Amino acid sequence: MEQPKNNLLEDRLILDRPIQTLYHLIDIRWWRYLWILLCFFVKHSPSFAVPYLVKVAIDSLAEPDSISQTELVVTFMVLVVLILQNIPSHLFYIRMISKELRNMELRLREALSQRLHQLSMNVHNDRETGRIHAKVMRDVEQVHQMCHFLFESVPNGIFAFSVTVVYTAFSCPPMLLFYLIMAPVCVGIRRAFKRSIRTRNEEYRARIEDMGGNLSNMIQMIPVARAHGVEDRAIQDMNHHYREVHARGRHLDGINALFSASSWVVMNLSFVLGIVVSFTLCRMGYITIGEVVLFQSLFQLIMGSLQTFLSIYPHVSRGFASVHSLAEILECPDLEVNEGKRGVDEVEGRIQIQNLSFRYRDDQPLALDGVNLLVEPGECVAIVGPSGSGKSTMMNLVMGFQRSNAGRVLLDDRDVNDIDMRQWRRYLSVVPQQPLLYSGTLRENILYGLEDVNEDDLEEVLEAANVKEFVDRWPAGLETRVGEGGAQLSGGQRQRISIARALIRDPRVIILDEATSALDVVSEKSVQEALDRLIIGRTTFIIAHRLSTIRNAHQIVVLDEGRIAEEGKATDLMALRGHFYKLQQLNQA
Ligand code: ADP
Repeated sequence: MEQPKNNLLEDRLILDRPIQTLYHLIDIRWWRYLWILLCFFVKHSPSFAVPYLVKVAIDSLAEPDSISQTELVVTFMVLVVLILQNIPSHLFYIRMISKELRNMELRLREALSQRLHQLSMNVHNDRETGRIHAKVMRDVEQVHQMCHFLFESVPNGIFAFSVTVVYTAFSCPPMLLFYLIMAPVCVGIRRAFKRSIRTRNEEYRARIEDMGGNLSNMIQMIPVARAHGVEDRAIQDMNHHYREVHARGRHLDGINALFSASSWVVMNLSFVLGIVVSFTLCRMGYITIGEVVLFQSLFQLIMGSLQTFLSIYPHVSRGFASVHSLAEILECPDLEVNEGKRGVDEVEGRIQIQNLSFRYRDDQPLALDGVNLLVEPGECVAIVGPSGSGKSTMMNLVMGFQRSNAGRVLLDDRDVNDIDMRQWRRYLSVVPQQPLLYSGTLRENILYGLEDVNEDDLEEVLEAANVKEFVDRWPAGLETRVGEGGAQLSGGQRQRISIARALIRDPRVIILDEATSALDVVSEKSVQEALDRLIIGRTTFIIAHRLSTIRNAHQIVVLDEGRIAEEGKATDLMALRGHFYKLQQLNQA
């Protein structure tokens, strides 16, 4: 089986070094940057050329002999050509950065999806889907926007500074002193606001994530809220989260406004100061009138680019808050590692659990405590026990979703930690309590993830899973769309689709999670028949409460507080009049 390639961005986000992080995110070769800078210079050349040509024109007015008529005309024609070339060069420039940045956006989303599938199931249990959704959609968009702004403003700043500094150094070195004094002032402003802008951005982003998580909860819970008549409460709860976002948003807007107003004022004050300095230098005879105008224009250029840079700072800060948020997924160390482990070409279905213990967190009691069990290939084991006794935990350990704290699980005599579980799980099917269907067609739902399935095999599976009896009555048959979460189907139909999905994989091991507990008698019979056909000849674990669903089990394991309390056949366990007997009494009550 093909292994997914390593995560492209893994270990490459060095969050306390923003420039390096950006470099890795954008991930283009250095010569592409040079190429981008060159394009920017060509497209932007009029803004440097115009001030110089205006200076030449003004000086020619003051001293008519300094330039001939023809030279003046040629100079203006050059200027017109430089201005006109901006259309093609700008288009070319945008195409180039758009390609790089859209590539980055795509890479980020691909890397996130890949990472989500590599993260251990623990991480998924702890995170709300709405939060993850916000990261993949909104945070990636923010990072893209930040990079876009940077590509627009950084080359501008680099050119404005270098052209101005080089020209000034040659024509009027004293003016350089003025720049040297002004630069720290501008940097100082950014520093003064840096921390509060960052904190407020992070607070705002955290509220947005919260809102996303709660929104998806609210949507999922709409039927429950309606059924219990607690819509008002649900609306109020959600409104509270909207209000939090609103308040944090206003906080953020406030600091951003203060920042941009302060930088605007400092910029303009420096501009006025620049006028005073250049006027004084002109009066002292260091520079010509034309150069006074030229310096003003150059100064305006620098100020303009600084102003843009400062005005995009909030976007940059927001972008970095998003990079941090993405890093929670991309840098999360809790991965399920399968690379380099032994491959699995064949599964017999022998499962051995030896002294298995597990706890979810250090401060929690053991969810499983010294469990031993041997299941031979093709055997059916029912696991029963009160809620919270460790049934799901045991199955999660068998599937390799969790790592044991002590003891081990052997699958066909090989330790679960030593084999590539992705490959082993190709021989496993799970029929969960609540079948998970998505809003595709029935066919897509059954074949989920499988390609090239033989139509005859599919027909056979539909028959065995009792899906045919209702699908044949639908005009679109297998091509019927099932609606999000299979909302248009009954519980029994969903369950049978889930069984068909398991059957078509022809698994060696099956885990059934109380598959018939929520069904009416007619559906249950049909589902039970399908299940009976599904488990023939396959190692099966049934997590069940009722005798009816476990009558065919070779052995029954009764769990209590993480330990095996009883083990054996149903009749023997009933005769014991212990845990199993009590459970059955409770169920019948
Ligand atoms: P069952 O499937 O028998 O109802 P579980 O295996 O789900 O029981 O739970 C066993 C114990 O582990 C319970 O005490 C439960 O609270 C705890 N538990 C289950 N899942 C988690 C989790 N994701 N994080 C922390 N504790 C958990």
